Formats: sequence, structure tokens, C-alpha cells
Amino acid sequence: MNILVTGGAGYIGSHFVKQLVKVGYNAVVLDNLSRGHKESVPANVNLEIVDLKDYKSTRTIFNKYKFDAVVHFAAYAYVGESVENPELYYTNNLIGTMNLLKAVKESGINKFVFSSTCSLYGNPLKVPISENESVKPINPYAHSKQMIENILKDYSEAYGINYVALRYFNAAGADPEGDIGESHDPEPHLIPITLQVALGKREKVSIFGNDYDTPDGTCLRDYIHINDLADAHIKALEYLNNGGSSDIFNLGTGNGNSVLEIIRTAEKIIGEKIKFEITDRRAGDPAVLVADNKKAKQVLDWQPEFNLEKIISTAWNWHSNQKY
Ligand code: UDP
Repeated sequence: MNILVTGGAGYIGSHFVKQLVKVGYNAVVLDNLSRGHKESVPANVNLEIVDLKDYKSTRTIFNKYKFDAVVHFAAYAYVGESVENPELYYTNNLIGTMNLLKAVKESGINKFVFSSTCSLYGNPLKVPISENESVKPINPYAHSKQMIENILKDYSEAYGINYVALRYFNAAGADPEGDIGESHDPEPHLIPITLQVALGKREKVSIFGNDYDTPDGTCLRDYIHINDLADAHIKALEYLNNGGSSDIFNLGTGNGNSVLEIIRTAEKIIGEKIKFEITDRRAGDPAVLVADNKKAKQVLDWQPEFNLEKIISTAWNWHSNQKY
């Protein structure tokens, strides 16, 4: 099977491409490299440097290859940036996806896997969060993802494009072989920030609030290893290939870890103290985000395998030998 992977040079996309090729699929990566890294794309995979906002160039790629399915990662994904510059997010995420879907529809492709997010749930009323929880996004990034999920639903009904939307919790960790990993600039995420402090690249971790209603007062998140996410996308492709109907799945481990636990686990793995301070809460941070992952386990036959120690040790292996 020939799979188009948009955003395949990005953090999540590149780990998916590596796994996909390993299990015997053909992959073509489409990426504008605005945030991705060409070094993340395996040498035996074709990289097409194209911006999805450019419909003509996008369509050319569909004419050049015959794709059986599309996995769509390409998007801007920083919550804070989306609040400051919503135009950037709506333009990039929505226009890019509309062009992509036009090319998908015109090429008669009917299998589409979409990279969605748990931030669609906003401040959830019930934890762990199941797919039945109401969707109430609270920032432009999550709004853009919600709009795309709605568009996919309508396209699925009208044009028969079957899709799976995967709502990730906190993607973390790196390739256990150390070839690829997380490389964002600026870096907003807790685990890489913590490891950068251990490497002397930052002075300390700022913990955004310790007065939440959680066991140690810091926020709980569900950290899911990037290869477990990659594996779920492969299962989603298999599901669609076997005639599965359009659906939505949460992807998380089902366990919550606090900010302090992340720092303590990193200290244990590295064998050094990591300096931190408690600062004000960050606007828009819910106290607890933990997945109810039963549906993905049952329907996709998916099982996450990496625990927090393995997540942080693969991330540490990458950050302490970072190649790009
Ligand atoms: N966090 C923090 N300090 C940082 C970055 C993050 O205390 O420098 C906290 C943040 O408030 C959240 C958790 O760590 O509770 C994970 O944040 P991250 O930005 O990694 O992912 P998010 O949950 O926002 O997608």
C-alpha cells in the first residue's frame, strides 16, 4: 500500500513514517519543512517539499503517485501561538486541509487518518475522558482541529471518504533507536524542557502552578509514547482497509502523571537533581487530562507499551545526543 503522509518530517509524523516503512508499507512524505526537519525522513522515503496551501503543487503530488490512503499530520500545533495569532492557525490548518481533501476527493481516495487532539475537550467535566465527552475547545488551535473533524464527518457522509480521527493526549518520548526525536524551536513542552535543564541549556523548569486540585497540586497529564501513537495510526489504516467506518478514538495510556512526577522521574533516570521553581498557573491549563482509551483498545486492537520511565529514557537518549 502506498501512503501519503503529510507533515511526515514533523515530530509525530516522522516516528509514524519510520514504523510504517518497517512494517512494509510504502510512504511518501509531503512537508513544507516550515517546522519539520528533512533529517527526520528516512533516506529510502521520498520527501516532497510542498505547502498544502498551494493546491496546484499538492495536486501534482497526487498525480505523480497513486496513493491508497492519506495520513494527515501537517498542522501548526502550539496552543499559545494560536491564541496570539489565530489567523496563522486558521489559514495554515484549515486551508491546507481543505486543499488536501480536494485532492483526496478528486483522486478517488477513500481512506484518511487525521491527527486530532485531546485539547478538543477543553476543561472536561469527567476524567478519564471518553470519546463521548462533549467537545468544547478553548483555543484557536483546538478550534481548527474541531472544524476539521466536522469537515471530515460531512465529507465522509457526502463523498464516502472514510476517516479515523485520533485524539492524542500528550505525545512524548523519542525513537528508541535514537535516530529521530523531538526538536521544536521554541520548545513549549514539559519533558524536553526538563531535559534541557539537565543538559545545562536552561536554568530551571518553571512549574505552572502547584495549587490545582490534584494529589501534589501540579497538573496531571497522560503522556503517550510517540511509537505507541505511530502504532495506533497503522492500526487505524488497517481498520479502514478492512472496511471500518468513520470514527474517532482517544489515544493515551489512561494514566495521569503530575508535573512534579515528570521532574522526579527524569532525575531518577539521569541521576542528577533538576532545578525548578513554582510560578503562576499558565492560562488555559486544565488540572487533569487523562484518556479513557478503551475504545481504541477494543476497536483498533491497540495497546500502548511504553510506561513513563521508558518515555523519559528514550527522550533523554535523544536529547543528550541530539542530531538536529
Ligand atoms: N508545564 C510546566 N512547565 C513548563 C511546561 C509545561 O509546568 O515549562 C506543565 C503544563 O502546565 C502542563 C504540563 O506541564 O500541565 C504539560 O504541558 P505541555 O506544554 O508539555 O503539554 P500540554 O498538556 O499543554 O499539551
